Amino acid sequence: MKIAVPKEIKNHEYRVALTPTGARELVNRGHQVRLQAGAGEGAGFPDADYEAVGALLEADVAKLWEDAELILKVKEPQPEEVERLAEGQILFTYLHLAAEEELTRGLMNSGATCIAYETITSPQGGLPLLAPMSAVAGRMAVQAGAHSLEKAQGGAGMLLPGVPGVPPARVTVIGGGVVGENAARMALGLGAEVTILDKSLSRLEVLDHRYQGRLKTAYSTTDAMEEAIRESDLIIGAVLVPGAAAPKLITRAQLKDMKPGSVLVDVAIDQGGCFETSRATTHAEPTYVVDGVVHYCVANMPGAVARTSTQALTNATLPFVMALADKGWKRALADDPHFLPGLNVHAGQVTYPAVAEAFGLDS
Ligand code: NAD
Repeated sequence: MKIAVPKEIKNHEYRVALTPTGARELVNRGHQVRLQAGAGEGAGFPDADYEAVGALLEADVAKLWEDAELILKVKEPQPEEVERLAEGQILFTYLHLAAEEELTRGLMNSGATCIAYETITSPQGGLPLLAPMSAVAGRMAVQAGAHSLEKAQGGAGMLLPGVPGVPPARVTVIGGGVVGENAARMALGLGAEVTILDKSLSRLEVLDHRYQGRLKTAYSTTDAMEEAIRESDLIIGAVLVPGAAAPKLITRAQLKDMKPGSVLVDVAIDQGGCFETSRATTHAEPTYVVDGVVHYCVANMPGAVARTSTQALTNATLPFVMALADKGWKRALADDPHFLPGLNVHAGQVTYPAVAEAFGLDS
């Protein structure tokens, strides 16, 4: 199959949809992989690394799209990319259509088959193509939080692990899903004292078992939240309520109960944020201070570590890309009931019920 990998054009997007390692697997299976020249550079993969594994480089972006049967991307197509998309082509990328009516209608008009990373499921439950970015964000949350505890960032001037004779910071993670577990793991690894709060007892059981007493777990109640607010040096917000905005778990009035110079890292900011005082920030200016509490609320955390994120994304997408390229989209989706929910738009129709419902369309 003719596979095209364009350079991402969304503002500040440095990831690319395929690493040279991924390109090699596809070339070895007899597929043609064409990459827009420079597409991997932002993630630290020069053109030469792709050429070395047999991928072809294309400088002319119009030609790259025109000749492709399967287009691999990271972010949802921008308006000029929607224009390029044609009937008979397959687009495989993050789409997040439910909040994007104009994009949805653009994809319907293109006549292309559009498969979204984020709606593919897995036999173990969960969303396997979202999980790697949650893992990245969870681990980064602790790095960001530890840095924010430094005096120059407005923090309490505290070293997360402490030193011999000085106790470590107390870290509370709210939400024990993929982000939360990865955050807890990092914080434990650095030697912090870590408590994780979740509304799901079965999830807390899994975490308790997995970390063998090194991680404290607490059922997420008002009492537990109030204790976390009073006692923590760093609180990481990692909740998700599927299909809804994040619940506000710490109010502005409660900031006065927090220790001066303590830190809130709101990973759920892409769902509106789980602290009342959160507002989305960027990597250029990631933090701000309210009532003596440092807030870190970057909405696209994985973008800061484009290389790791690109590698993690390719690992997760590659089995699906290989199935699409080897079998064609019809058989690839028919053979795998967990790949099938990835189909969002085909032949002018929205095929994913939640997206169709959002815009009053037939699915
Ligand atoms: P997940 O579904 O794996 O986990 C969410 C957890 O939150 C679940 O275990 C759930 O039981 C728990 N929860 C829900 N309400 C709660 C409450 N009131 N108190 C305590 N726990 C509660 O989700 P995830 O993949 O870990 O993602 C978490 C959040 O991080 C999402 O909002 C996601 O969009 C966001 N995220 C942000 C970035 C970023 O760059 N900022 C990157 C990746 C993910």
